[in-house]
Amino acid sequence: MQSVDQIIHAKWIITGEKQEPLTQHALVIENGMIKEVISSELAKQRYTAKKSEEYLNHAIMPGIINSHTHIGMNYFRGLADDLALMNWLNNHIWPAEKQWVNHEFVRDASLFAMAEMIRSGATCFNDMYFFLQATAEAAEIAGMRAHIGITVLEFPTNWGQNPDEYFKKGLEFYEQYKNHKLVTTTLAPHAPYTVSDATFKRVKEISEKYNLKINLHLHETADEVNQSLTQYKMRPIRRMNELGLLSPQLIAIHMTQINDEDLEILAATKPNVVHCPESNMKLASGICPVEKLIARGINVALGTDSVASNNDLDMISEMRSAAFVAKFSTLNPESLTAQQAMTLATINGAKALGIDHFTGSLTAGKAADFIAINLDEIETLPLYHPVSQIVYSGSRNQVTDVWVAGKQLMKNRKLLTLDENELKAKARAWSEKISGKACVVS
Ligand SMILES: [Zn+2]
Repeated sequence: MQSVDQIIHAKWIITGEKQEPLTQHALVIENGMIKEVISSELAKQRYTAKKSEEYLNHAIMPGIINSHTHIGMNYFRGLADDLALMNWLNNHIWPAEKQWVNHEFVRDASLFAMAEMIRSGATCFNDMYFFLQATAEAAEIAGMRAHIGITVLEFPTNWGQNPDEYFKKGLEFYEQYKNHKLVTTTLAPHAPYTVSDATFKRVKEISEKYNLKINLHLHETADEVNQSLTQYKMRPIRRMNELGLLSPQLIAIHMTQINDEDLEILAATKPNVVHCPESNMKLASGICPVEKLIARGINVALGTDSVASNNDLDMISEMRSAAFVAKFSTLNPESLTAQQAMTLATINGAKALGIDHFTGSLTAGKAADFIAINLDEIETLPLYHPVSQIVYSGSRNQVTDVWVAGKQLMKNRKLLTLDENELKAKARAWSEKISGKACVVS
């Protein structure tokens, strides 16, 4: 008998590697890595474990990857709703950011967001915001995998005055965290309408020099495309192609306005796409043609965007929305199956972030990033197909346990690395400051 750190026996294991969930199987874990996924019977014969647990009502699945967030904005949830993107940004979000955003604000908001993400089954997120150290500090405390973008735009924010300062601070951050186990630096030029050609060229140079992924809001709205046609005499996708930005290093976020010419360019250059269906629906931005992109061999991942435009960090409901939007927009119920929606939220996110060699599915040699979902609830019974049940009937409240690199972050709905009461008290205190009045809930 071989000794290992941990064995997790479960009723179902959705590996993300095989089409059908495995039943009565076990994850064998050693040094934070998956050593084997084998039948429970064999695991009991082969191994003794320092810790062995049974999840008899649960599905174990890969940790969810939220491929697009702005978690420093979590205290702006519900501040301004039901508005068009530019009105929302110009008259509400950007003024609020000017007034409030600093290191302390971003650290507190990030911890608060991570509590929500862990409670919703996410183990990894890909963020674009300011005060990067604050988000990284929060990720170290929470124990989540964090991809943190060096946000760059032409105009000043509380974090920097101009692109020179954003690049300087961003590269200092990169140097500080380049060997970190959980934190990875990316580049994040904000959008075609806030970043000049000269700055995009610098983004490309830095990406090539340091091998960094590039996040970019792209073709989010028809207005963005029209403005580009006026200013640059071409659509943003063509402009990005001419600047050499379109490649598998790019993570193109939203992509709701895609014509046939755009599709040809994308098929030839293969950037990753992050679909954010709930943000796109709420801001009435448009619909990302997920099926057409997948058919052209483009990797599509899934993200929530910020809680100011969603208004939650619930990737289980995002999977459901992705499936529903695909079916409704094509009037084809066979579009984007539950299985595909789950793929967008797991291994495709890992591919987009360039980490699919060590996370995103449950197989020997990958990190032990996984979650347990209790499906033995009124809402998810009877149970014929666990994946369908999670995507179409499941709730994030059924996520009971979460592990990253073998470390448990939530046990039976209790957060182990974060203090929920303290986070709620801070959220109330910040909302009192932001609104200028006492929070109604205390
Ligand atoms: Zn965004």
